[in-house]
Amino acid sequence: MLETKGLLTVEDLLGYAPFRYEDRGNVKPIAQLAPGEVATVIAEVKSTKLTGFRGRNLGLVETIFTDGSRETLRGKWFRPNGGYLADKFTPGLKVALFGKIELDNYTGDLLMMNPEDEIIGGDDSEGDIGLHTGRIVPIYEAAGKVTTRVLRSLLDRILGSIEPLQDHFPQVVRERLKLPDRWSAIRALHFPGPGADLRLLNAFRTPAHWRLIFEEFFWLECGLTLKRAKARVQPGIPFELTDRAREKIKAMLPFKPTGAQKRVLKEIAADMHTPHPMNRLLQGDVGSGKTLVAAEAAVIAIDNGYQVGVLAPTEILASQHYLYFKNLFQKMGYVVALLTGSSTPREKTQIKKLISEGLVHLAIGTHALIEEDVEWKNLGLAIVDEQHRFGVMQRLRLTSKGKHPDVLVMTATPIPRTLALTIYGDLDVSVIDEMPPGRKTIITKHVTDEQIEGVYSSLKREVLRGRQAYVVYPVIEESETQAIKAARQMYRHLSEIVFPDLAVGLLHGRLKTDEKETVMDAFRRGEIKILVSTTVIEVGVDVPNATVMLIEQAERFGLAQLHQLRGRVGRGAEQSYCVLVTGKLNEAGRQRIRTMVDSSDGFYIAEMDLRLRGPGEFFGTKQSGLPALKIADIIRDQEVLEIARSEAREFIDNPPSEEALRGAVGYIRQHWQRKYGLVQVG
Ligand code: ADP
Ligand code: MG
Repeated sequence: MLETKGLLTVEDLLGYAPFRYEDRGNVKPIAQLAPGEVATVIAEVKSTKLTGFRGRNLGLVETIFTDGSRETLRGKWFRPNGGYLADKFTPGLKVALFGKIELDNYTGDLLMMNPEDEIIGGDDSEGDIGLHTGRIVPIYEAAGKVTTRVLRSLLDRILGSIEPLQDHFPQVVRERLKLPDRWSAIRALHFPGPGADLRLLNAFRTPAHWRLIFEEFFWLECGLTLKRAKARVQPGIPFELTDRAREKIKAMLPFKPTGAQKRVLKEIAADMHTPHPMNRLLQGDVGSGKTLVAAEAAVIAIDNGYQVGVLAPTEILASQHYLYFKNLFQKMGYVVALLTGSSTPREKTQIKKLISEGLVHLAIGTHALIEEDVEWKNLGLAIVDEQHRFGVMQRLRLTSKGKHPDVLVMTATPIPRTLALTIYGDLDVSVIDEMPPGRKTIITKHVTDEQIEGVYSSLKREVLRGRQAYVVYPVIEESETQAIKAARQMYRHLSEIVFPDLAVGLLHGRLKTDEKETVMDAFRRGEIKILVSTTVIEVGVDVPNATVMLIEQAERFGLAQLHQLRGRVGRGAEQSYCVLVTGKLNEAGRQRIRTMVDSSDGFYIAEMDLRLRGPGEFFGTKQSGLPALKIADIIRDQEVLEIARSEAREFIDNPPSEEALRGAVGYIRQHWQRKYGLVQVG
């Protein structure tokens, strides 16, 4: 049961932080209790009776307690198998009770309903102060049937029976920041001393909390810094941005690049020029024009005589990129190839052969591109699109196909900067923070299911004005089949009943590649006016004439995903609309939808999404490369993270001694994978 929470060793348990604390220190004699207050009472059992049915599931245990004063206190417990409790509470037994004081309607006595109880002075505990009552107690997340109470006892016993743990933390840092030592911090984490401040405890801001959070971030940042430093000194390709390449880029560009695109390309070209491998994250909101920048970088690499690989997460996006690059590179005579899971075996063999002979300048693909048997003559630049869908491992698998090629990772998920630096801490970051000119803000509306008819009429009006529209259904991982069924049904409904005179198309993940392509082509050419789809269009699709994005059951999507979907429209000069259709919403749902209606700023939305859902869900899978943190929280503890980062950099760059550095590197090596679930460093 402990294993379900990743608790396999004593050390794991010691690091299992309470998620909150409760003050049970308010110990009062019965005579001083007032109804409504929460208190701890230490008293003796006077009498106990069990009503309800023995052997049946529920019993009511009623015990009268006294502490020598004239008043008595009643405790009532509804318990399955109440007999156990009734037998335990024999007269004379000394018990500590914690709970809310009420007034018994029948007897007028003071009463506690289902209080937390703890036998005092028996074998169970020592002295009058309990473990579960009479103090500030830690509350843990239960692990299966291992309750917070059991965990508390377990930790108490462990802390009482093992030797103090060694502190691996660099002493200079500890002294400078006046951090408590590890052992005291761990003890105070689980069992705060009598003077502890409940507010600080629950804010995770006691010195003990701060130290443990800091420590977790510190080692993580040290590892990332080392990884980065190591990549920095590896030999790489010094690409030249020659005048000839400049001319080619100029001739290729279909429009004037934005200031941000120019700046970012400059950063990339400078990085490519160094004789070490580039490891760069290109961040930019949906529609900010990352692909164009990637194409420019590709020209530099190809002009230097190298090949370029582009890794895309979906087949639709891969073929979209294929068309885009082919079109751009036509004049230069560069050969562009597409390799996906659904290429025929013959096509695959042929394309692989061309890649290995160096006859393909740029190859685009899905996972097929990183398969074992794809060999490159001289891969010089690896571009990975929509990084958050790929694990770090996959990125490495593509780059291992060349001799230290440059790597450009593109993501449209606007990850807050602190987070980006943590997840991609080994990468440099370039940001496109400007949209291509002439974009109008997309108007976002929220409607409920009942208002759908009105939405359909406006949609029809847009189509009759020559525009196109998407209608999207949520795909829930486990029930893709169901979502496809819903999309099919809706497709039939829309094409036969609502818009019988308009061309409606259907797109979903189970279609064969050529079927998908046929539908996408027809939509691109404007032959299909309304495209009903599951979320396969989420990333990358680019049809400027589409101005309406209608999202059904919008409450089932994450905010980041809604933002991605919305980014499919608003790509041309026309006013675009995004309509979020939902059922009845709870407060959290309303807040999320309101965020979408109010803001079109991807960074703000991502920040909100993170806050509302937490990083784990935000990034979806374990594959995300997000470090598994035990006590630290990337959002709550941002300011600690900042300090840990600069301390870690300083420590690695200017270690106090050779020995301290060696010790740290050893510690990180040993703990990296297990602690953070990250790929081995150096
Ligand atoms: P994303 O960053 O989401 O990948 P894209 O690269 O797909 O964005 O670009 C979005 C759209 O904007 C495309 O239609 C692209 O051709 C267009 N675009 C890119 N850069 C510019 C620019 N400087 N001026 C005008 N349009 C641009
Ligand atoms: Mg893109």
